Amino acid sequence: MYSAESERYNNFEYVRCGKSGLKLPPLSLGLWHNFGREDDYEKSKQTVLTAFDSGITHFDLANNYGPPPGAAEQTFGKILREELGAYRDEIIVSTKAGHPMWDGPYGDWGSRKHLTASLDQSLERLGLDYVDIFYTHRPDPETPLEETIRAVSDSVMAGKALYPGISKYKVQDTINAIEIFERLDTPLLVHQINYSMLDRTPENLRLWDVLKAKGKAAVVFSPLAQGLLTDKYLNGIPEGSRAAREGTFLSSEKITPKLVEKIKRLNEIARQRSQTLAQMALQWATRDDCVCSAIVGASSPEQILDSLEFAKAEPLSEEQLKTIENILSD
Ligand code: NDP
Repeated sequence: MYSAESERYNNFEYVRCGKSGLKLPPLSLGLWHNFGREDDYEKSKQTVLTAFDSGITHFDLANNYGPPPGAAEQTFGKILREELGAYRDEIIVSTKAGHPMWDGPYGDWGSRKHLTASLDQSLERLGLDYVDIFYTHRPDPETPLEETIRAVSDSVMAGKALYPGISKYKVQDTINAIEIFERLDTPLLVHQINYSMLDRTPENLRLWDVLKAKGKAAVVFSPLAQGLLTDKYLNGIPEGSRAAREGTFLSSEKITPKLVEKIKRLNEIARQRSQTLAQMALQWATRDDCVCSAIVGASSPEQILDSLEFAKAEPLSEEQLKTIENILSD
């Protein structure tokens, strides 16, 4: 019978999510990869339990995480049922709907039909009455924003989710979504967006300014650029890594000699700071006040323990930030 580590809440400070009442750990665990049906269940379970034992309370899922789609929610549901059930009130479970999930016109995007049915299916797979955060996974260019946001808001009103979230919305849609959620009395909790040294979309969109002005927070995903911002690919593509696996979004062609050279230079700064590149990349991605958590993936419990050390490290100095900037712009 699993019993959680008693010192788990003494490892780092929890970060308030904008002006909401909710605090999140600086590092959250995402279950996009490594929690599917073909993955080793014992390893998946140990990764989740190691995260929880280390103080990580936030687990990020989506309807389509697997493979096959839905499998990650089933895996996490099993872990909740068999190991973490007694700790439900200490855990934030997030899920999303919007990417392709089932056949036909209601299997994806942002209609009320899709979002409502998908959340019900997610709850069933997770074995839960409610999730903590329910996201619209991506903006839908064809469905009126009002319909999408109202569907998420109604899920909150119906008690199927505690907080609403949006993911990958551009600036104007973000502003509009915040206003609609406000009007419907279910204030937006968080915007989930890709952000790392290799993907600066939110900065380019000036999204941080908008969120800050509205008292909202971001959680950033893929802060390690799917593993590129670690020491993993410095000397080739290791067997079993994401870039070596079929059916992932990290193709080996992306790992060019120019990129590896950059990563080596970044790795050198991390070494000078006596930390791993993964830890430095996490510090970089969470350095803005409006970022309340970085959602990482992990293919082993050890990766979570390594990544989490970032929360104890000295902030990056101005000089180090400048050096990083120079490397990135080369
Ligand atoms: P990361 O950028 O954190 O990449 C995770 C990968 O990096 C791991 O699978 C592992 O690769 C490697 N890694 C992690 N920690 C370490 C370490 N300490 N040392 C060495 N290598 C390490 O994030 P993901 O791309 O996995 O995304 C994280 C989460 O964000 C997802 O699970 C999901 O919850 C969310 N997300 C949301 C999206 C959205 O549309 N809203 C889109 C994408 C992700 P390896 O497997 O090779 O060992």
